[in-house]
Amino acid sequence: MPTEQLSTRCCVVGGGPCGLMLGFLLARAGVDVVVLEKHADFLRDFRGDTIHPSTLDVMAELGLLDDFLKLPHQKAPNISAFFGGHQYAFADFSYLPTRCKFIALMPQWDFLNFLAERGKSYPAFHLRMRAEAVGLIEDGGRVAGVRANTPDGSLEIRAALTVGCDGRHSTVRERAGLTVDDLGAPMDVLWFRMPKKPSDPDESMGRFDAGLIVAMLNRGDYWQCPLFADRVDELKDWDQIKLLTVAVNRLGRWHRPGLLCIGDAAHAMSPIGGVGVNLAVQDAVAAANLLWQPLKDGTLREEDLERVQRRREFPTRVTQRLQVIVQNNVIDRLLGAGESLPTPWLLRLISGFAPLRAIPAWLVGRGVRPEHVHTPDGQAAAG
Ligand SMILES: Cc1cc2nc3c(=O)[nH]c(=O)nc-3n(C[C@H](O)[C@H](O)[C@H](O)COP(=O)(O)OP(=O)(O)OC[C@H]3O[C@@H](n4cnc5c(N)ncnc54)[C@H](O)[C@@H]3O)c2cc1C
Repeated sequence: MPTEQLSTRCCVVGGGPCGLMLGFLLARAGVDVVVLEKHADFLRDFRGDTIHPSTLDVMAELGLLDDFLKLPHQKAPNISAFFGGHQYAFADFSYLPTRCKFIALMPQWDFLNFLAERGKSYPAFHLRMRAEAVGLIEDGGRVAGVRANTPDGSLEIRAALTVGCDGRHSTVRERAGLTVDDLGAPMDVLWFRMPKKPSDPDESMGRFDAGLIVAMLNRGDYWQCPLFADRVDELKDWDQIKLLTVAVNRLGRWHRPGLLCIGDAAHAMSPIGGVGVNLAVQDAVAAANLLWQPLKDGTLREEDLERVQRRREFPTRVTQRLQVIVQNNVIDRLLGAGESLPTPWLLRLISGFAPLRAIPAWLVGRGVRPEHVHTPDGQAAAG
């Protein structure tokens, strides 16, 4: 089949939270962008369904928050932990200086469909579904675009910048020869659904005991991932259970001439704290803030890409460091324990003294170095 050829300013590989937010912001600023997504739709379950207060701030800065919150969601204004049968209050988002003082629990496909739909209102936004990037176009040591496979044949997209937002198994970073430092993860995660009963508590929470860790997200009429003895028979076969392999890693160098990786493609996050989507969105906001002007003017240099890494590497390192500390000191000990462990003193302290619940809320809900939208709305300016 003949090869279709396109050219654009920026080719974003991957229509996850990072890629769609970047595509949306660049197109809104008037930069021509093509987003490639290998799947036909966004309908994938258990992919990080938490929208954090700092992401909700970004939606507010874009003027989209009211419409966004009309989509079905549950609000988690606080998180508690069950340890050895006792409930401990852990994080309270009412302390945050953000507009929304809760985590919104929403299927990720709703979030992605919303961004894709809003993106389409900008003429510079081009989303190609069922387009899988399989290689890079190289031109004198510089990445000059992407080769992709589509149901209609192969596609070649030439671009001033290619951005790998294709997740933890990134093809782009692998083809670019960027090297990954693995920080290790002592666990994998099984996700499944259980029906929610009226007598169940309303809060999202974690249950911890010797050899057992269960995160329970309140999704209205079901729990995402609980382990209830009285409902285990609802699980009829292994198709209802999804295994997600956990990885914590990051690239030493996030860029090459003509190419940048961000989101999970630059740093796979552990599910601890459920911060991966938020970090991916913050990366996209920072990249758009720093790159939209040089992309538009045609003056993009590798130093601009280096500035994106410098801006986002610090929050990535701090967050991953905290995740690894929790992995090694809590998760590893709990999963290896044969008998009940004493409740950690820190959990008892936080639960007993309400203002301390601001600290986990801050780390989880706001994160290190939250980003703010500085890209213009080209259409609004034109209108
Ligand atoms: C078990 C587990 C639970 C988690 N729970 C949470 C949570 O509750 N909250 C949270 O915030 N985070 C959670 N995370 C992390 C979160 O899912 C990720 O950090 C986040 O989705 C990263 O966003 P991204 O856009 O960078 O990558 P992804 O979400 O992985 O998106 C990448 C996109 O690129 C597409 N793609 C891949 N390869 C190609 C290609 N070659 N060509 C075209 N398209 C391609 C994929 O189809 C996908 O749509 C969890 C992770 C794990 C492992």
